[in-house]
Amino acid sequence: PPILLWLRRDLRLSDHPLLHAAARAGRPVIPVALNDEAVAAMGAAPRMRWGMALAAFAPALAELGSRLICRSGPADRALAALARETGASEVWLTALPDPLARAQEQAVQAAGLTVRAFPGFLLAPPEAIATGQGRPFRVFTPFWRALAAHDPGDPLPAPGRLPAPDHWPSSERLEDWRLEQAMQRGGPLVAAHQNPGEARARARLEAFLDHSLDGYAAARDDLAADGGSKLSENLAYGEISPRMVWHAARAAQERGSPGAETFLRELAWREFSQHALWHNPTLPDSPLDPAWAGFPWDRAEDSPALLAWRQARTGMPLVDAGLRELWVTGRMHNRMRMLTASVLCKTLLIDWRIGLRWFADQLTDWDAAANALNWQWVAGTGPDAAPFFRVFSPDAQAARHDATGAYRRRWLAEGQRHPPATALAFFDAVPSSWGLSPGDPYPPPVIDPSEGRRRALAAFERFRKR
Ligand code: FAD
Repeated sequence: PPILLWLRRDLRLSDHPLLHAAARAGRPVIPVALNDEAVAAMGAAPRMRWGMALAAFAPALAELGSRLICRSGPADRALAALARETGASEVWLTALPDPLARAQEQAVQAAGLTVRAFPGFLLAPPEAIATGQGRPFRVFTPFWRALAAHDPGDPLPAPGRLPAPDHWPSSERLEDWRLEQAMQRGGPLVAAHQNPGEARARARLEAFLDHSLDGYAAARDDLAADGGSKLSENLAYGEISPRMVWHAARAAQERGSPGAETFLRELAWREFSQHALWHNPTLPDSPLDPAWAGFPWDRAEDSPALLAWRQARTGMPLVDAGLRELWVTGRMHNRMRMLTASVLCKTLLIDWRIGLRWFADQLTDWDAAANALNWQWVAGTGPDAAPFFRVFSPDAQAARHDATGAYRRRWLAEGQRHPPATALAFFDAVPSSWGLSPGDPYPPPVIDPSEGRRRALAAFERFRKR
């Protein structure tokens, strides 16, 4: 009988343990993508980006003599139906750490199918990176040391072909899923900023290694230079394996690249967040440190301050620049993610989960684990987090990381006689119902940042002494 390969965030051919094993199983394989409850739960931008990843992946599969079968419905029912039609009884998949994916796997098993899970999304299985007592690390540095000492094994080659069934089951058309639908006005703009597919991910990695890794440690914090690899979107959909990126950086480290260690540490942050989500399925919903459960965050969904933050019109230029980069490109510089998040949950005292959900809707590299762990880091609600009293100052961040103002000019049209296309694009990206125009005066600050800081510290003191 054929094997059903359920593909989710593993849309590549190389270093793919599941595909590698399937190609050698001596049985026909049927690759499947589902428009299921996990897709319905995705935000607008990641859903669109997942569709782009699938569109790039399907032709790659075809080159192996295979096909991507697209079906809709809850995963357990869709896969059970496909199993009945094809005589399959096994579903093979790449294990994912997020709770919804895990619940789906259990449901598929409960529907009577045998589920076989493969590694590939992580550098190490969560249980392999543990303290001497076998417990998960709660802080990053010892985790990093343990991960650096772990051998992830060598990347696997892409299979030459995948055995096809005698009869292919029917497939829906990917275009009919309209995965880009929820993106509305900003969709085409954001789509143009994406680099979907394995070939582009590999090219991006090569270019980063050749031109940017050596200077990464400094350039990653320079807002205008934006010296990151930009591989997060590719890693989020498995268009490249973390192991391949890790190996490439290790090799560069051995050749003496000065940026390699810093970059490896960032990959370790990705891994740390994934393991954290594996061990704490409520990471996106509840503070890791339960002491924070009663903190009086502002939870109003319609406050003017929250609206201004979402609309990238807080009146704090660097903050708005970051939030506009997000509107236009679907991504945001890491330092700006930290600053805009800090402004939301500290300066404005708005619940970090509201910000987390906004990012989950807007980021094309959205990742349940990275998003949640980082929001908790900024909010100060995890064991290894920025302490609550550390409040990012927009002015200090601008002086340090955008000294020439180049990043702000790139994204803020107001006040510029000849704004660049990047800054004007924001006005095309936002809903026209907002009635914004580049000629509008720049809004006054929703709050004086130092006043916001004082208020946050006072709230924190009251909370500590309660
Ligand atoms: P590089 O600097 O090239 O780093 C290499 C890779 O390491 C990245 O591609 C990413 O996979 C990983 N990485 C780097 N920094 C982190 C980090 N702090 N945490 C976890 N992994 C990291 N990253 C996401 O991939 N998805 C998210 O949804 C996401 N949400 C975030 C929310 C907030 C509030 C903050 C502060 C950070 C968030 N990040 C998220 C982490 C980080 O901002 C992005 O991974 C990074 O900006 C991606 O750019 P890059 O690929 O050029 O990174």
